[in-house]
Amino acid sequence: MLKGVTVKVSEMDFLGIKCHLFLFVFINSVFISEQTKVEVLLDMRAARGELGWLTSPYSDGWEIVQRVVNGSQLYTYSVCKVEGGDQDNWLRTTFIQRAPAATRVFVELGFIVRDCNSFEGASLTCKETFNLHYAESDADVGTSFHKTQFRKVATIAPDEITAGAEVQVNTETRTVGPLSQKGFYLAFQDIGACIALLSFRVYYKVCPATVQSLASFPETVASGGAGNGESQALREVTGTCVENAVSQEQPRIYCTVDGEWAVPVGHCQCRAGFEPAAEACRECRAGFFKESVSSEQCEPCPVNTEQSAAGSLSCQCKEGFYRAPKEPQTAACTAPPSPPLNLVAMTIPTSAGKLQLSWGPPADTGGRDDITYSVACERCERAACLPCGEKVRFEPGASDLPVPRVGVSGLEPLLNYTFTVEAHSGVSQLSDRQSTASVTAALQYTDPPKVTSMRVDKQGSTSLVLSWTISQRALPQNTRYELMYRKKEKDSEKDVTTYTVLVLEKNSVQISDLAPATAYLFRVQAQNPVGGSGTYSDEFKFETLPEESKTPGNTAVIVGAAAGGGAMLFLVVVVLLIRKRKRNPTARQGVEDTYFSNSEQLKPLKTYVDPHTYEDPNIAVMKFASEIHPSHITKQKVIGAGEFGEVYRGALKAPGRKEVAVAVKTLKPGYTEKQRQDFLSEASIMGQFCHQNIIRLEGVVTKYKHAMIVTEYMENGALDKYLRDHDGEMTSYQLVGMLRGIAGGMKYLSDMSYVHRDLAARNILINSSMVCKVSDFGLSRVLEDDQEGTYTTSGGKIPIRWTAPEAIAYRKFTSASDVWSFGIVMWEVMAFGERPYWDMSNHEVMKAINEAFRLPAPMDCPSALYQLMLRCWLQDRSKRPCFNDIVNLLDKFLRSPDSLKTIADFDPRVSIRLPSTSGSDGSPFRSVSEWLESIKMSQYSENFTCAGVVTMEQVLQMKNEDIRNIGVRLPGHLKRIAYSILGLKDQTSTLSVFAV
Ligand code: AMP
Repeated sequence: MLKGVTVKVSEMDFLGIKCHLFLFVFINSVFISEQTKVEVLLDMRAARGELGWLTSPYSDGWEIVQRVVNGSQLYTYSVCKVEGGDQDNWLRTTFIQRAPAATRVFVELGFIVRDCNSFEGASLTCKETFNLHYAESDADVGTSFHKTQFRKVATIAPDEITAGAEVQVNTETRTVGPLSQKGFYLAFQDIGACIALLSFRVYYKVCPATVQSLASFPETVASGGAGNGESQALREVTGTCVENAVSQEQPRIYCTVDGEWAVPVGHCQCRAGFEPAAEACRECRAGFFKESVSSEQCEPCPVNTEQSAAGSLSCQCKEGFYRAPKEPQTAACTAPPSPPLNLVAMTIPTSAGKLQLSWGPPADTGGRDDITYSVACERCERAACLPCGEKVRFEPGASDLPVPRVGVSGLEPLLNYTFTVEAHSGVSQLSDRQSTASVTAALQYTDPPKVTSMRVDKQGSTSLVLSWTISQRALPQNTRYELMYRKKEKDSEKDVTTYTVLVLEKNSVQISDLAPATAYLFRVQAQNPVGGSGTYSDEFKFETLPEESKTPGNTAVIVGAAAGGGAMLFLVVVVLLIRKRKRNPTARQGVEDTYFSNSEQLKPLKTYVDPHTYEDPNIAVMKFASEIHPSHITKQKVIGAGEFGEVYRGALKAPGRKEVAVAVKTLKPGYTEKQRQDFLSEASIMGQFCHQNIIRLEGVVTKYKHAMIVTEYMENGALDKYLRDHDGEMTSYQLVGMLRGIAGGMKYLSDMSYVHRDLAARNILINSSMVCKVSDFGLSRVLEDDQEGTYTTSGGKIPIRWTAPEAIAYRKFTSASDVWSFGIVMWEVMAFGERPYWDMSNHEVMKAINEAFRLPAPMDCPSALYQLMLRCWLQDRSKRPCFNDIVNLLDKFLRSPDSLKTIADFDPRVSIRLPSTSGSDGSPFRSVSEWLESIKMSQYSENFTCAGVVTMEQVLQMKNEDIRNIGVRLPGHLKRIAYSILGLKDQTSTLSVFAV
């Protein structure tokens, strides 16, 4: 770039020309880039004085001309010997010291050459060029001048020749070198031209000191010019990394001929704890870290770490949080999981000798998703515990279980085993946080299957030898059989039937003393060693042979030894069954129609007896319940309020027996005799039942003023409340396990021809092992003591939203109507205690049901379960499944948990309690807490506030990840909140139910 000013020199006489000379004065450098730095060795004008240059021949040829320009002295050299030929005029500079690194220098000339044509007659000898020479020397040789020591650099010719009055100033730059000695001289040789040397500068170029790519490089003299034989056009320069930066190889860069830097090699990077910032490495700020040498910026400290100091290489985990061995410093710190939730052991239906352990994922996963489980088994007797040994096997294994359940086999029935399930994650071994849950369980026998065939092995006129087989691989060793038979009656005798019942240890029997040539009907059922029984077989008809003349007459009922030598356990029991029951509309009664069994079949032996059939209800109590002395009962704490008085938790210590926890129902003072009888009727009913899913009656106090009913104690109380308190904490598998228990109890009741009429989650009790039991039996109570009971037009009180339409319409209470209620219980369980039909009025519920609407699937409900619910709610009660079907189906789901994987379609607008776009009055939610309250998630209010989510607009922006990050960990809760946000986004929100 040209940098300079034009100075007007008035009335100058140049080379004999009187003219106005516009002299171009170079100020700095000519034609060099702005960035390029030059070091000047000699500048004619900067000298501002006589330069002391040598001329040869002395005082001829070149002459010095001194002028004043703008108040400054200006020295120029000129020569104009155009005539006479053979000119050889030299002008030599003073000694120019060379900088050691400057092996090549630039010579910049400003000069004027007169046109030879302007000299008349001189054109033949006149020249228009001159020569530039140089000579190296290690010392200043003073005035000693030898032309021969000079080497020619170039012939200098003007671009513009000065012909007229207008002076043409030329500028030429030449490079001189390579130079090696301490200094040098330059010389101008004139061979007969008319020249004025106006400016003259000698310089070399440097690449200035620089910092590039975090490496600093020193100021470096540029190599000489290319194009004149110089091999090294680029000069390689090594640098050093800036403070707090390192490099594997030494940083290098090239300094070009033009004094510019090019091609840096070997990157420097900031070391750990430092980040690059404006060609330097600066310390990471507090709260940030950098783990290693890199060009990256410092990162903020991850989740669950302490605030780091400035310059940190890592952020320490907060107390109780860890990083797994191979996790990088950038990973969030995590904690070991909390213990698995709700560990339960269930007997696997139809798989003898097996238990299924299941549990819910830990409430706190510690922020990790690599949770696995291991299970250990011990047998504890008194204080001593021993490992269970290899006989007990776990399916699929005892460790690294990815799903929250495991099958256990090889157990001895009725022995107590303690199973400990531990939740593990990548950081478990770093902490001693307790992540275990234990359950003690004993293998209960499952109900044996139905006997499907029976044959007669030997036929006599008064005896029959019968045998049967049962299709179960692992039937418990001491399975017993209950055989009942009767003579096939004629139609007229049908009201009264006499049964004979035998309890046998083998699957064959010889029955003697039968009437000859008579048809008998036999049914048999298997019983496990603890009394659990399967269903009775169908009836098989066998006939005795006609009487032989010698056969002695029948005198008594004699049962011979069982065929094959099997010993008979009990002698004959003769039962008289009155088939036609006295009808009592207010009392609970047996199945009124033949919904469950075909009309040809008889009812099972054990049939519920309505206490009202007894003239004196006290006799019924005495018959079905054992009397307890009040001194054996300790009442400890009120746990509920029954219709007749408080319910207490207490202890029962009968003489010679272990103390057991019990619930004690009391009858409040001032009762009438009728109320006392009604109160005790519950015990008369409960006392007839013996099933693991029916609340067990311990006994009654009737002989003292304060009557009491004592039942087994159920630690977790009523199921509806329990579910609401543990919303989202149980897996579908566990919920199905609960439903299986309730269905088992209901199957037992329906087999006994008992219709419950008030089956609802509030009337199911749950114990500490999560076993559900049907409770709330009583005669008047349906509906007196149930707050859900609503008077119907026919006068009775009915819990509308749990009751089948035919029972509401015309009091047709049957096991089929109990099945409808069971469907509602299924819905309550899968919705974690949600109120069926939410806040619709009873009237709206009845109307919707009559219009064929049904409840929608609860959130996250397996499709197979919802399908079953819908079948329970079929209008035509004969099409609903029976409890036996329900038990079988639920067992199937439990055996193959994959069948629960498909989730029923979910509409977020209907499963959340309230229409999710608005508050209870239909207006939009005014605050986050109002919204959370409406979806029953108020416990997370603080989490939202702490995370700065304070407006509904912010809520709408949240993604699932955000919800998890603010501390909502339970999968059920996460889903509920996420679904509600979905619903909020979808502006249409009508509370609807699905049509079937
Ligand atoms: P009930 O009169 O049978 O409905 O009982 C009233 C309340 O007492 C129930 O909702 C339970 O909370 C509690 N309760 C009744 N029986 C038991 C029991 N066997 N074990 C534990 N809690 C019980």
